[in-house]
Amino acid sequence: MDTRLEGKIAIVVGAGQTPGDKIGNGRAISLQLAREGAEVICVDRLPDRAEETAALIREEGLRAIAYVADVSRAADCEKLVQHVYEQRARIDILINNVGIGRGDAPPHAIEEVAWDKIMDVNLKAMTFTIRHALAVMREQRGGAIVNISSLAALAGHHMVTYEVSKAAVNRLTTVVALANAKYGVRCNAVMPGLIDTPMAIEGIAERTGQSREALRADRDARVPMGRMGSAWDIANAATFLCSDAARYITGVVLPVDGGMAARVG
Ligand code: NAD
Repeated sequence: MDTRLEGKIAIVVGAGQTPGDKIGNGRAISLQLAREGAEVICVDRLPDRAEETAALIREEGLRAIAYVADVSRAADCEKLVQHVYEQRARIDILINNVGIGRGDAPPHAIEEVAWDKIMDVNLKAMTFTIRHALAVMREQRGGAIVNISSLAALAGHHMVTYEVSKAAVNRLTTVVALANAKYGVRCNAVMPGLIDTPMAIEGIAERTGQSREALRADRDARVPMGRMGSAWDIANAATFLCSDAARYITGVVLPVDGGMAARVG
């Protein structure tokens, strides 16, 4: 096993997952960071979800604790960082994985309540976990932040808030990278394409009434490589960006999408 993250303290925000028959991005990232040596603070709004991921890690003989926070509240972001710093005296890695789309609509139909909720969870939350983690990372002169964006930042048209929030996540990533490069803090984003996770499959199946098989076949067919990715593809990219192998990489938005971003039209 690669132990390139040995001794690192990692916070994964959105470490639980939507129930389903496949692993989600946040859970896969948490497991992968732990397998490569990090101690993982598994953060979720829902206590059972955070605990389930932490327990899976501990079952492998690795280190993890669960922590409950609603990161759409800036005060929760501050408390989270304070708690980890008090317990471990450092924060090496911050993964911002939460992202929702429920209630979203095309531009002509979007409602204020849905817009505010999605923006708070997808964009404000990330801004404030980063804002507070930066105090620690700048002081220790090092740290790696990875934001989970979406290819929807570049393409789509029917989920105006989700798409705009993810475009903003890409820009947030470069702003944070540039403002903190001289402190040794790196900030990058992973931009997943069509990934076979419960968040996507269960969410869309519920909304559209499509069968899971038909939905999976349809999504596979849209990818140049002929199949959706898995959460492990996202986890591998995020883990690489956190590691010293990526020590000269900052401000990058990395598509992990089987070639979708390379295709225009
Ligand atoms: P998931 O929904 O299964 O897990 C995310 C977790 O975040 C959940 O357990 C949820 O309870 C938690 N969460 C939600 N709001 C929260 C809040 N306010 N505070 C704390 N925790 C909160 O999703 P996942 O599979 O881990 O992937 C999520 C990320 O991947 C999102 O950013 C999403 O936009 C991105 N993404 C996914 C796909 C795909 O096809 N699956 C494609 C592109 C991007």
